[in-house]
Amino acid sequence: MRLCRFDNDRLGLVRGDAVHDVSAVLEALPAHRWPFPPGDPVIANLDRLRPEIERIAASAPARPIASVIVKSPIANPGKIIGAPVNYQKHLDESRADRGINFGNEVKEIGYYGLFLKAGSALVGPGEGVATGFPDRRHDHEGELVVVIGKGGKNIPKARAFDHIAGYCLGLDMTVRGTEDRSFRKSLDTYAVLGPAFVTKDEIADPGVLDLELRVNGEVRQKTNTRYLIYDVPRLIEYASTWYRLEAGDVIMTGTPEGVAPVKPGDTITLEIKKVGRMEVKVRAG
Ligand code: MN
Repeated sequence: MRLCRFDNDRLGLVRGDAVHDVSAVLEALPAHRWPFPPGDPVIANLDRLRPEIERIAASAPARPIASVIVKSPIANPGKIIGAPVNYQKHLDESRADRGINFGNEVKEIGYYGLFLKAGSALVGPGEGVATGFPDRRHDHEGELVVVIGKGGKNIPKARAFDHIAGYCLGLDMTVRGTEDRSFRKSLDTYAVLGPAFVTKDEIADPGVLDLELRVNGEVRQKTNTRYLIYDVPRLIEYASTWYRLEAGDVIMTGTPEGVAPVKPGDTITLEIKKVGRMEVKVRAG
């Protein structure tokens, strides 16, 4: 099943290039007063909502997905978790770059741990990216994103798949500079998720997916998720060792080599086989 959020917080079931408005199922979500329970309510209640989504979609009018504004499919991730330096060839290029962010001593993910991006940075592909600093380099980082379905702590790799709800695409946008990652990667619009949330049953193995990112049609990043240093189960094990995971948390699994600058006016296209394709426009902030 592929679900998107579109226009004014409508919930859509995506079939091919059509989106069926199934927002009526949201009435079945539990009503809450403060404090809200942790997690994203749609993801937390997905098993219960799923048959109703199928039922409503059968009679819901379809619209071309190109005619709607696609927002982040996960509306309220409790955490947006980032994985630094999680592809070997990205580690190699970062070392060669000797950039201001890292110096010469770039290491891999196990050295840096994880980082968190602000929830306020979250947008969907239809909203685009606004560059925060007019005079600095902004980089695209195309990534596979895992959406947690069942929370937990100290989740062993062998049981990681029990905790996955599904997947989507992500752009972990970054501005270069001296500041911490959590600053440079949390500017408004710097966490793009989309185009749809794909339930895990649609993807037999997240560790064999081709990923390609193009800017204005030119290929910049091209890899396969088999080259992840920490694969999806290991990332869940690693993250849940220190962060209690909740339904709707997202883990951006890291970017491959080919990280390069974008500027206002560019169009970023990210495609991961079986997960989807999204186009994201870059504008001046
Ligand atoms: Mn990243």
